[in-house]
Amino acid sequence: MIDVFTTLKVPGPIPTAISEPFWAAVRRGEFVLQRCEDCGRRVFYPRAHCPHCWGSRLVWHAASGRGAVKSFSAIHRPGHFAWAEAAPYVVALIELDEGPTMLSQLLLANPGDAAVGMRVTMRPVEIGEFVLPFFAPDAVKAHADET
Ligand SMILES: [Zn+2]
Repeated sequence: MIDVFTTLKVPGPIPTAISEPFWAAVRRGEFVLQRCEDCGRRVFYPRAHCPHCWGSRLVWHAASGRGAVKSFSAIHRPGHFAWAEAAPYVVALIELDEGPTMLSQLLLANPGDAAVGMRVTMRPVEIGEFVLPFFAPDAVKAHADET
């Protein structure tokens, strides 16, 4: 699945002065979120002001890159033709462990495997000239004690 991504020519993110630290972290294989120094809450997407208290002291901090699928949709006919080669694929709302929800794509061999509540972890994926923060399901734990 990841092999098909490297040759795609898709429109990518357009980093701004506010969002560039997020995209730079993803390119390094890291995951960061803003934290409001006034109310302590984590924020996504990147902003100049906290959506909870309107404070302007938002600081970047390392985040787990882990979360759970809140909702999802299997895409068979992409909204942009450039993604056609990768279809079908699954886009999902991921409720991050730090609180915010973000929209991303799930790395699944079979779109039918997507499920609400599925635990996932961020995986940076090269898509053409970009690196995007997609999410892969956590490995299913072995049940060695069930023998
Ligand atoms: Zn705040």
